[in-house]
Amino acid sequence: MAPTPRRVAVLGGGVTGLAAAYYLRRAATHAGAATTAAAAAAGHTVHVYEQAPRWGGWVQSTRQDGYLFEQGPRTLRPAGGEHTLALVAALGIANEVIGVPKTQPAARTRLVYANGSMNLMPASLLRFAFSTQPVLRGVLGRVLREPFVARSRAADESIDAFVARRFGRRVADDLVSAVVHGIYGGDARTLSMAACFPTLWQREQTYGSVVLPLLLGLTGRSLSAPSEPRPPVVALTAEQHAWVRQMARETAIYAFRDGMQTLTDSLVRALAAPPERGAVRLHGATPVTALAYDADAAQRDAPCWTVTTAAGAAAYDHVISALPSGTLARLLQSGGAATAATADASLPAAVARVVHQLSGPDMTAAASLWVVNLAFHEQVTPQAFGYLVARGGETAPPGDAAWFAHEHGLLGVVFDASALPAQNQFKEESRLTVMLRAPADAAADAVLAQARAGLAKHTGINQTPSSARVTYQPACLPQYRVGHRQRLAALHDALAAAFEGRLSVAGAGYRGVSVNDCIAQAHDVVQHLVAAGGPDPSDAATTTGLAFCRA
Ligand SMILES: Cc1cc2nc3c(=O)[nH]c(=O)nc-3n(C[C@H](O)[C@H](O)[C@H](O)COP(=O)(O)OP(=O)(O)OC[C@H]3O[C@@H](n4cnc5c(N)ncnc54)[C@H](O)[C@@H]3O)c2cc1C
Repeated sequence: MAPTPRRVAVLGGGVTGLAAAYYLRRAATHAGAATTAAAAAAGHTVHVYEQAPRWGGWVQSTRQDGYLFEQGPRTLRPAGGEHTLALVAALGIANEVIGVPKTQPAARTRLVYANGSMNLMPASLLRFAFSTQPVLRGVLGRVLREPFVARSRAADESIDAFVARRFGRRVADDLVSAVVHGIYGGDARTLSMAACFPTLWQREQTYGSVVLPLLLGLTGRSLSAPSEPRPPVVALTAEQHAWVRQMARETAIYAFRDGMQTLTDSLVRALAAPPERGAVRLHGATPVTALAYDADAAQRDAPCWTVTTAAGAAAYDHVISALPSGTLARLLQSGGAATAATADASLPAAVARVVHQLSGPDMTAAASLWVVNLAFHEQVTPQAFGYLVARGGETAPPGDAAWFAHEHGLLGVVFDASALPAQNQFKEESRLTVMLRAPADAAADAVLAQARAGLAKHTGINQTPSSARVTYQPACLPQYRVGHRQRLAALHDALAAAFEGRLSVAGAGYRGVSVNDCIAQAHDVVQHLVAAGGPDPSDAATTTGLAFCRA
């Protein structure tokens, strides 16, 4: 069993890494009130490394010409996001939150563009079944027959295959492909049902139906849910608890008045404040270039990790990686080469196995998107959250010319100003964000024209924007291809064997891409690490961050 770490390196300053560092700090600060073992963890040192000059990773909010533009995430869901709500309360930024009530029309009105028409998505299963919208015609019959469809015996299946099998080809093509565009920016034909929609997958596995348990209110477990119930790292006051409960009860979605970056900026501020116990150091604009493990040092309970940057090398007892998996693989490989006696010496077999698991093409697959923010000094968008674009019958594989050209490449559009009017600066203001696919080397002007052409075709909005911003986001959304859960299980075993629980992984590449999922993973890792006084003595491998695979 690895002892409770004294020096911890957190690699990556996106929301996952920042949340992990915050939880470590809070665990140390409040150790006096927790277990004896946790008290031993008090005073530990946490160093956070971020390669970029700014913190937050994909979380990026910008004010341009007075308009708030989000280049990454913009909204959070209270449902399933209890750790995020608790974090917001603990950071003292609840007063920055804009909650959109479940009753607000703009939050409830979601549209899907399919086969040349815009379709209103009903807000309940009942309305869904009886809807007369073109894409939903005939769906009632499929919904009624769904409980009688045989369950899959496979360990996993593509989202497209799952939906087509249970609800028919049209629902898969015209509806679910659009939802997958909106969440993953990817193709439902390649993504894993078990990993991307784990609760629906489990419903089929457990009850033989998706619809029946939904009607009966039976739920499944999300991928980022902790493997076992443990007390939260951050203890809230009664007032904070009440706020969290109220948000969960009444709010459909929420955001921050000045954008999502409020969350990551607040985390950075909290980490930079003088600590009561322990120490946190933020190393911004400091790319990690190598990561080396010394198994002999680990045996002696001496610092076993060496983190190398341009500034030199530093030793740690434990590493939490909140990096893309391919980046972690490269760092381990460089670390192995740096410590090897000769240049051609290979990595220890166990470490090589981890590198192999982390760097496989299915593990590192990620979608690249163009994000086009548009603002108008007049009311041009309808009272709706936005719309998603379906694949329709198009069969082109991702990345080729037809895939880029379908519906001008648009995946979805969020009507930011309608959904979140409290963020508006001007009386007459419309803001919207177009997410689209286009080649990486496309010119920004051409992408802007493409976004406007798609928008005009789908909605008739053809006014000239008062302000526009075009951003390319390369490899920004990990793609959980079929077999993702099995790959995580293999990675868990490889990490446990190579590093005996001294390397934890968390973040969008593993157990969910939403901000809620990322924060839940950070919480889970730290909870296992220190809140209960270090790794569970019965299993040295609970701290890989992937222990749920074996739960
Ligand atoms: C356009 C877009 C819209 C989205 N919309 C939503 C939404 O509305 N709601 C929602 O919940 N989620 C949304 N998401 C998903 C969510 O924002 C991301 O999955 C999440 O922010 C990922 O956080 P992370 O910390 O795991 O990874 P990242 O943000 O990728 O952080 C990893 C960090 O590691 C750093 N790094 C890399 N290499 C090194 C190195 N060698 N040394 C040091 N540091 C390094 C990177 O610079 C980066 O800061 C959206 C994502 C995108 C791209």
